[in-house]
Amino acid sequence: MHSGERVATHPTATFLRHVQAAIREQQFDLWFRKVSISDVTDGRVNLFCPNEFVRDWLNSNYLDAILAALTETFATAVQPTFLVDPNALSTLAEHDLSTAIQRAPATFAPPELPHAGVVATLSPHSDTVLHSDYTFSNFVVGNSNRFAHAAASAVADAPGKSYNPFFLHGSVGLGKTHLLQAICHLILARTPSVNILYLSCESFINQFIAALENSDLSAFRNKYRNVDILLVDDIQLLANKERTQEEFFHTFNTLYNLGHQIVLSSDAPPKDIPTLQERLVSRFKMGLVVEIAPPDFETRVNILKNKARLRGHDLPTDVANFLAEQVSTNIRELEGSVTRLLGFASLVNRPVTVDLAREAMADSGAARAPVITIHQIIAVVIRHFNVKLSDLQSKRRTQSLAYPRQVCMYLARLHTNHSLEEIGGYFGGRDHTTVLYAADKISKLIEENPATQEMIRALNRQILT
Ligand code: ADP
Ligand code: MG
Repeated sequence: MHSGERVATHPTATFLRHVQAAIREQQFDLWFRKVSISDVTDGRVNLFCPNEFVRDWLNSNYLDAILAALTETFATAVQPTFLVDPNALSTLAEHDLSTAIQRAPATFAPPELPHAGVVATLSPHSDTVLHSDYTFSNFVVGNSNRFAHAAASAVADAPGKSYNPFFLHGSVGLGKTHLLQAICHLILARTPSVNILYLSCESFINQFIAALENSDLSAFRNKYRNVDILLVDDIQLLANKERTQEEFFHTFNTLYNLGHQIVLSSDAPPKDIPTLQERLVSRFKMGLVVEIAPPDFETRVNILKNKARLRGHDLPTDVANFLAEQVSTNIRELEGSVTRLLGFASLVNRPVTVDLAREAMADSGAARAPVITIHQIIAVVIRHFNVKLSDLQSKRRTQSLAYPRQVCMYLARLHTNHSLEEIGGYFGGRDHTTVLYAADKISKLIEENPATQEMIRALNRQILT
């Protein structure tokens, strides 16, 4: 596969075999699959890596294993020179893909990454809206998620070619959805015409059931089996869904055989998903299975700062440290603590300090769970408008119900990290465009109408305190 002085096939195969025998399989898959070496010249050998990130990573983490494998391969000690493979598909640098994108050469279409607050819609026939913040550049890399991040970038770099399927698992709120959507953003930015489908497993199940009921299976199959890239979030929901498992098995096979990328996320590794058919377990394990772990302290601090920055604030380090101590595992909650603190600061109009953070957290009544839930929001709205929850969730569209419902949706967008779909789900299964419309409408009213502004401020006060 390489030409010129790089007689890569033979020494590369031997070298890789030795590396493979020495390190864990997952690590090998992740880091060495696209590595090759040259012949030896003057006791030196070139080690070609697919990109700068892998090159640096191998150099700092696998030097011993590499030296040992080289010695075995050439029966003498040789010195490796770490290089980026000039034939490699991409030479994206470092963790921060956005920087790489900005200084990318002309051959690389400059992607329009969506800005915060802008919602990017998947094209051409997707039903899910991507969260505009869930990009690689907004993803903080630490020890807990380094593998997951590197693997996800590799998948986005060369869909269908590096790791297929890519199976990402870890407990709730650790960034699985974020990474899946980051893959979508990057691929869409580079190739807007790509036929990419991201959805929750729940949607897949619901659409399958609907297709069964309407005897419309062929349209359903047409849709799923013709995509270039399929990403299904929370695939553990296939548990106990025998017929959907059956259907997904065929979807999977069709796409896999076409070499199309499949990305799955789950709260458990394939073998631990209850009642998952053995043939699905084995297929899910065919590519790369990576776990995403809870963040360590340093990563939590970085995430907190990053989240504050996304909201236009610089979080002082002592404040970030304080919050990172309070919330230890779930990143969604970590983010909730920033939202809460910043909301509190603007409410009482005081600078963001450790003291203020302590007050903000204490005020939440549960320092370790500072997340505002949609139920809190609903409770406040129901009280204010004197309506019933069942009315908000009903299909009725009278103005006296539509308005409080829209206020709920607006507040849920403001205070929670729920997706548009999830928010819609709380209000009688309304779709994401309805939620988007509602949030938009209330934002405009707040700008135009002092009374609305005052009302929202009062509701915010009740929610936050
Ligand atoms: P899960 O897939 O486990 O449900 P999510 O992807 O929804 O988790 O992440 C929960 C929240 O935490 C999201 O708002 C996401 O942006 C944020 N998050 C998770 N990991 C990171 C990270 N490494 N850097 C920045 N934000 C993160
Ligand atoms: Mg998720």
